Amino acid sequence: MDNCLFCKIVKGEIPSTKVYEDNEILAFKDINPAAPVHILVIPKKHIASLIDMQKEDEILVGKIYTVINKIAEEQGVKENGFRVIVNCGRDAGQEVMHLHFHLIAGTKLGEKIV
Ligand code: AMP
Ligand code: ZN
Repeated sequence: MDNCLFCKIVKGEIPSTKVYEDNEILAFKDINPAAPVHILVIPKKHIASLIDMQKEDEILVGKIYTVINKIAEEQGVKENGFRVIVNCGRDAGQEVMHLHFHLIAGTKLGEKIV
């Protein structure tokens, strides 16, 4: 998608601090962290939001959770725990219309974080 911020990050047109990459998935630090660890995990393929996920994306989304676990371990937050948030649509406050999973950790998390 030409006008999508996260597609531009995938293509390297906008810089990001990458923490994980494979041929289908990219993870990078959130530019405005809500906690000491705040990483966004995204499919490289453009999917606008969770509601746009198709049956064919089930394996990809499963892999994203495996990657989240791997990053949590690497970031040293596996033991204390972490939160995964997916904002979907307007009422949830989704700002970037490219499916992304917030991995948030590193402190005791309050009720509302992103
Ligand atoms: P959401 O509100 O769920 O759509 O979250 C979008 C997230 O993207 C926010 O937490 C932003 O801080 C983050 N964000 C926006 N632009 C960038 C960027 N260029 N690099 C990294 N994170 C970004
Ligand atoms: Zn996109």
